[in-house]
Amino acid sequence: MLKCSACGSSRATVLINGRPYCTYCGAKILRNHLVRTLINMKREGLITSIIRVEDYADA
Ligand SMILES: [Zn+2]
Repeated sequence: MLKCSACGSSRATVLINGRPYCTYCGAKILRNHLVRTLINMKREGLITSIIRVEDYADA
């Protein structure tokens, strides 16, 4: 039985970077990863600054 690497829940359902996470922690990690990716894209001028991506960074 896999345990969530973040909260220790025994209901780990997803693997991210080879580590198991429960649905809740997995969603949080993916969300943070996505926000970071968007911030980098914005910095490189690939997307417009209409969306304030930074506002979601710490959620
Ligand atoms: Zn968890």
